[in-house]
Parts: sequence; C-alpha cells; structure tokens
Amino acid sequence: MARPLIAEIDLDALRHNYRLACECAPHSRSVAVIKADAYGHGAAACARALEGIAPAFAVACLEEAVTLREAGIGAPIVLLEGIFTPDELAQVDRLGLWMAVHSDWQLDALLASRPSKPVPVWLKVDSGMHRLGFSPERAEAAWRRLAAAPEQACDLHLMSHFATADLVDTGYFNDQLARLKALAERLDAPLCLANSPATLAHPEAHGAWNRPGVMLYGSDPLERPNAVTSRLAPVMTLRSEIIAVRELPAGEPVGYGGRWVTPRRSRIGVVAAGYGDGYDRHAVDGTPVLVTGRRTAIVGKVSMDMLIVDLTEIPEADIGSEVVLWGRASNGQVLSVDEVARHCDTISYTLLTGVLPRVPRRYHGAS
Ligand SMILES: *Cc1c(COP(=O)(O)O)cnc(C)c1O
Repeated sequence: MARPLIAEIDLDALRHNYRLACECAPHSRSVAVIKADAYGHGAAACARALEGIAPAFAVACLEEAVTLREAGIGAPIVLLEGIFTPDELAQVDRLGLWMAVHSDWQLDALLASRPSKPVPVWLKVDSGMHRLGFSPERAEAAWRRLAAAPEQACDLHLMSHFATADLVDTGYFNDQLARLKALAERLDAPLCLANSPATLAHPEAHGAWNRPGVMLYGSDPLERPNAVTSRLAPVMTLRSEIIAVRELPAGEPVGYGGRWVTPRRSRIGVVAAGYGDGYDRHAVDGTPVLVTGRRTAIVGKVSMDMLIVDLTEIPEADIGSEVVLWGRASNGQVLSVDEVARHCDTISYTLLTGVLPRVPRRYHGAS
C-alpha cells in the first residue's frame, strides 16, 4: 500500500476549459500557456491532451520547450521571455520555436544570426507592467528592424502583458490597452495581449492571439467572478485520506504551538498531506477542506507530512475516509483552489505550481 496522497489530473476538464477560452474569444487564436510544468499539472501530458485543439503552446524558457519536443509535441511553442543567452538561438532554430523579443540584446542577436528559416517573433512592449519589453516609443524602431529582416524574423506580432486585467477597477488596464491600440494602428501590427483575466472579461483586448494560462486549469482569476468563470472545471484534485482519528475534550491544544484549541468536545482527523507536499503552511484555522465530500476545516498548523481537520460535524468520517484539499470529491462536491488560496493569503498559481514531486500525478480522461 502507499501513502494516500495523489494529485489527480482531469485532462477532459483541461480540454473543456481550453474550449471555454476559445469560446470567449471566437475571433482570436488561443495559445495554451503550459509554462512551469503546466502550472504543476505536467506539461507533457497537458500538451498531449490539448494537441489537435490548441494551435500553439507557450512556455517560459528553452528547457521547457525541449521537454515538450522530447515528449513528441510537434505544435508551435512560444518562448514567452525569448532567449536568455544568444547561443539558445541555435536550439530555437533546430526545434522550430517562436520567440518573444523583449530587449535590444535579443533583437541584435537574432538579427546577427543565420537561422535555417525565419523565426516567428512576438515583439514585447512594456505598456505599463514595467517588467519586460520595449517602451511604446522604442517598440516602433524595433518593429521596423524586424520587418526589414525577413531572413531572421517572420509572423511579427506585438505582445504585451496586463498588470491589472483581473481587477474590477479597469482604469490602468484601459491606459495600457489604449497605448497598445495606438501603437498597433501606427504599425498595422497584429496583437497578442490577453492573459486569462483579459480573455474572460475584456473582449476589447482580444487580439490575433490570446494567452490564457491559469483558467485552463480551472482557476478563476477574476476579482469578481462572471458567468463564464462559473463554468470552469477544476483540473487538479489533491486527494488524500484520514489516517488517524481522536476525540478530545474542550480546551486541548492541537498541533505545533497549540495554535488551535478545541472550543468544545471535538473529534479530529489527521490527513496525509503537509507542506512537504506543497500544501501551504500559511493555511489558517478554518481553511476549507472536503471530507467524504462534506466541507469542514483545517485546525492547527500544517506540518510537513500531515495536517489536521475537524470531524466533529462529520461523524461518518473515519480512518480511510476521502479528503480533498482542493478539486472535486467523489460525490461531485467541488472545493476551488482559489478559495483555499484566499485562506493561505496567496493565489491559486502558487498552490498549483507548488505541489511537490513527492505527490504522484494520476491522469485520466482525453486518452
Ligand atoms: C504566465 C503568462 C500568461 C498567462 O497568464 P494567466 O494569468 O495564467 O492567464 C500570459 N502571458 C505571459 C507573458 C505570461 O507570462
């Protein structure tokens, strides 16, 4: 027998969410963002499940693209941050990758290279995120250099990233979008702007391409959910079991530091999952969890290999009962990773990418 903790990955749900992203933006093509090992879900398996419906994939770096090519993925792959050193251009050429160009040195290196065929380039513009890219003023010259180098670069697009597309307050988002639209008009350039929140909530930002990421995994990135986000399906279910049960009188401290003290006579259960698996130690008392498909709460500090839940209101729970830390329980009940993240003072992205290799992934669907 084995320690009862697995991350179940529902590849049908992934495909459903991808199709939802396409439905939101019927006039765009959507590159499936599968960087960071597909947000912790396994990039090769996710790419295989989406091959045939997604026209391209996006990753953060060459190593991630190599992994996909080695897994037999033949579809176009975009390097969202381009190359990190000039020598990576040889691999870009050999593997037939597309690349973002965000800096002068990348542009110089590409234009000085002799690729066997031109590289599709997404020129990155800093429209207000102030992380990567050319300022709108300097992007124009960079674009014209690329356009004058048909041996090195082709399929030019302007790419930019929004800092606040998830927020209800659209002021800064609108500023960024206005700068991009003005630049695109001057250059007659196709655009690639929308991340998940812009795909879901800002059709005016949809371009030739969109770049949905976290929504593909069933997480709702919006500050205020909308009609579409309610249709997202969780892809990862982090599932464990109760491995011990005890009854305590009122007033007993539980776990490290005794942070939680039984407020009444309580029945508590120990779950085989902890921060050594990637479950966030910042989870507060009251962080939701599903036991036998019923909502209850984490009590006491998360430890490395275990955490503790309150079973007082779930008398049928016992050793071996199903525990879902996020995702879908056997009875169909869903606990969203977004809700868990709020109790950990973080975002779904860190929880999903944080599930450690010790947790076996088990795939089903889309075979
Ligand atoms: C990660 C990333 C995305 C996807 O963002 P989500 O919020 O996960 O949809 C899109 N574009 C770039 C440049 C990224 O780095």
